[in-house]
Amino acid sequence: MLKVGITGGIGSGKTTVCQLFELLGIPVFYADTRAKYLMATDEVLINDIKAAFGNDMYPEDGLLDRRRLASIVFNDDLQLEKLNSVVHPAVFRDFAVWSARQKAPFVLKEAAILFESGSDKDCDYTIVVTSPLVLRIDRVMSRDNVSAEEIKKRMDKQLNDDEKIKLADFVLLNDEQQLLIPQVLALHKQLLGLNDHKR
Ligand code: ATP
Repeated sequence: MLKVGITGGIGSGKTTVCQLFELLGIPVFYADTRAKYLMATDEVLINDIKAAFGNDMYPEDGLLDRRRLASIVFNDDLQLEKLNSVVHPAVFRDFAVWSARQKAPFVLKEAAILFESGSDKDCDYTIVVTSPLVLRIDRVMSRDNVSAEEIKKRMDKQLNDDEKIKLADFVLLNDEQQLLIPQVLALHKQLLGLNDHKR
């Protein structure tokens, strides 16, 4: 099964692109959503989080105290690294199980920090969705009702588009000038022709 990673900066439109691939019958693994689910349900990961941050991250009701964990990792890169060092392997394991179950010519793994997390190494090919910065800020402001400053802060934690483009095998330009759907159809066709693993 060919595994294709897809990423893009905040507001670039990677989820929109994934939804188009889903309409074409391609299964998509949403790594960030899945990570949140695993933090609530995966016993190995729950134990790793307790070992790293203390049992009280999961108070008596057994539910993860997300607010508390977020406050620890939010402004502390070392703590964030510690969290990622247990979450990423759990997502890797889960993706392996999930992808083995899929019956499709290829699968997509969507991750906001595909390259930053090393997740790209688990994929045969990678796609980056790119958009002009102003457009990305506008989109996220209207989608999430947050300020431009807040969005820029989040962007600072990610690789910039030029760096991602250098690392990716395929680039989709979602600038609302070039039509997105024909680009997705062309890439879908191209990926169907790639049955050999590249890496
Ligand atoms: P994030 O990393 O913040 O989750 P994302 O890269 O997944 O963002 P999307 O959620 O797909 O981005 O898109 C951001 C917003 O912009 C959404 O509300 C989406 O509907 C809108 N959008 C994306 N692409 C287009 C487009 N080509 N035309 C109009 N709206 C678009």
